[in-house]
Amino acid sequence: MNVDSYVAGHWVTPDDSAVAIPSAVTGKTIARAGNASLDTLTMLDYARNTGGAALREMTFHDRARALKNLATYLNEHKESLVTLAFDTGATRADSFIDIDGGIGTVFVFASKGRRELPDDTICSDGDIEQLSRNGSFLGQHIYTSKPGVAVHINAYNFPVWGMLEKLAPTLLAGMPAIIKPATSTCYVTMACFRLMLQSEAFPPGSMQLISGSTGELLNQLNFQDSVSFTGSARTALMLKSTRRLLEHSIPFTAEQDSLNATVIGPDVVAGSAEFDLAVREICTEMTTKAGQKCTAIRRIMAPLNTIENFIEAIREQLSATRIGNPALESNTMGALVSTTQRDDVFKAKAALQQQTRTVYENPNPEINGADSDHGAFMSPVLLHCEHPDNADAVHSTEAFGPLSTIMPYRDLSHACKLLNHGRGSLVASVITCDPDVARDVTLASASSHGRLYFNNRHSMRESTGHGSPLPHLTHGGPGRAGGGEELGGVRAVKHYMQRTALQGHPDLLSAATSQYIIGSTETTTDTHPFRKRFSELFIGETLSAGPREITLDDIEHFARFTGDTFYAHMDEEAARDNPFFPGRVAHGYLLLSFAAGLFVDPDPGPVLANTGLDGLTFQKPVSPEDSINVSLIVKRKTKRNDEYGEVRWHVRLENQHGEQVASYELHTMNLL
Ligand code: NAP
Repeated sequence: MNVDSYVAGHWVTPDDSAVAIPSAVTGKTIARAGNASLDTLTMLDYARNTGGAALREMTFHDRARALKNLATYLNEHKESLVTLAFDTGATRADSFIDIDGGIGTVFVFASKGRRELPDDTICSDGDIEQLSRNGSFLGQHIYTSKPGVAVHINAYNFPVWGMLEKLAPTLLAGMPAIIKPATSTCYVTMACFRLMLQSEAFPPGSMQLISGSTGELLNQLNFQDSVSFTGSARTALMLKSTRRLLEHSIPFTAEQDSLNATVIGPDVVAGSAEFDLAVREICTEMTTKAGQKCTAIRRIMAPLNTIENFIEAIREQLSATRIGNPALESNTMGALVSTTQRDDVFKAKAALQQQTRTVYENPNPEINGADSDHGAFMSPVLLHCEHPDNADAVHSTEAFGPLSTIMPYRDLSHACKLLNHGRGSLVASVITCDPDVARDVTLASASSHGRLYFNNRHSMRESTGHGSPLPHLTHGGPGRAGGGEELGGVRAVKHYMQRTALQGHPDLLSAATSQYIIGSTETTTDTHPFRKRFSELFIGETLSAGPREITLDDIEHFARFTGDTFYAHMDEEAARDNPFFPGRVAHGYLLLSFAAGLFVDPDPGPVLANTGLDGLTFQKPVSPEDSINVSLIVKRKTKRNDEYGEVRWHVRLENQHGEQVASYELHTMNLL
């Protein structure tokens, strides 16, 4: 099979410089990839001026809808990818993580893009910053799309997820991507890429593919571009040192290898649900993808007094691993990606064995349904390090295969010390039922790990697994793990955008961000806004209503009616003793109800429902015989579907002296 590159709208076949790619199962060449004369300058130009230009015309919601179409199409056509991935050594269960996991990630970004980002091309970040006494000069952070290209360089172990988890936030950010998969599994990535093009979900130029070497690409980037890398620490160091990247301050995100660990809590005893859970999680992490997961458990910290029980239980479970042809459903572990990769693991194992003893390994495992002489199969290996404080290799050598080292700890602080010896990891897990253990590990170790995963009998049925990065949560870690961050919901989208601090008068900031900003112009019209459809409302459109006097009778009636007879509303003397109140005051919720009574237009119309409110604050007490006025201002509009859209209103309540007494953001759903 020729693994083609996709360059400026055309497929380009490999040339004489192409390398042969062996099957993990048979060792035979199954594909060729690489073309030394790819025109990367044209690729960059096409991405920036064709793909990027079209993407930047689309709003976040347009892009989110396109992502949903893309994911739906891939979901309908994924079976061919599973079949192809057998040759990478992946079982169907492994491919579920890679292929279904990748598609699921795109679905999550599609959904978050619609729910958490505006139907706009600009997105605000955080609240308004008050920079002046009278509010005529404010600050607001925003994100805009960069007119550049995101270069994605991916590792071999997740040919589909690795591509999609970077691509989804990139496209949602309005940036085109040039994807460079690792050569050893790029035939699966190319097949998925072809499906993505067939889906026609995104405009031409949004994505291009390099199979093989990137040639001069990194030396042609400029400051609006970015590089996101996943792979080994060694390659990351080499690439991020590229002079061009340093000279032009081109963002470089690295997700690299790490010595992830699990701590079996001091409370976990043999025979308990947590004991079985720990053994299960460890063995799953060791054998899934034949241990070729960046998040796999490489180090296991067990309490000194129970470590032998754990070794015995893990050995027993590992010995049940059925190794062999990944296409056979009965096999639970497939092959490493190549015999070269297996040689690397053997080399790392030899280094680790200097400081450990082997407590589980099957030197001659039965290989089911495949040729053990040519496939990259190996037995899982469990090593035991009795003196982990003086065993640097155990905390620094990544054997990227089904190999893990168990070590004893004396107490929790010793366990945390060992946990942090990895000098920065993607994930650490803790199996415990003890809340104090959760707190202590968080305090001692969170800063050394990108993710802390706690699990026990109460969460195990719904837990997502030590090794699974989730689109909702950040993936990445400090130090050895690369210091990068991916995923994590819309945070990931913002990594591909430029944050800019805007300063100016509220009217200018309001126009720039398409939302009402306190202090910007409020415009009243003759028609009540509740009688207007979504499309007819404009930002800053205001209804003013009132006054409404609040009497003592109102307060007492409300107290009896609701049962809220808090002393500040009912007892003059006690209320006076409270530092916040001058005497009896109106309930805050009474004010909200009266405000609604003032601004609501009662007849059926375009407003379908009040779906909630945010940011309610009471700024000044309202006493009997005070009166309130209310202003209802269109703050932001977000189309939700072809029938209706959400309107966010800024609501301001003032007393008879014009002093603000309460404010909040009201949400309604309106017909378009
Ligand atoms: P790798 O050898 O470091 O390669 C990673 C990527 O870099 C591949 O696409 C590779 O392409 C590319 N590359 C190498 N030299 C390059 C150059 N001069 N210019 C441009 N690109 C270049 O890593 P791997 O063997 O594929 O993956 C295994 C490693 O990745 C493990 O250490 C694992 O821990 C880590 N990993 C980390 C994560 C994470 O999220 N943190 C996830 C998965 C894997 P070629 O294949 O063509 O050389």
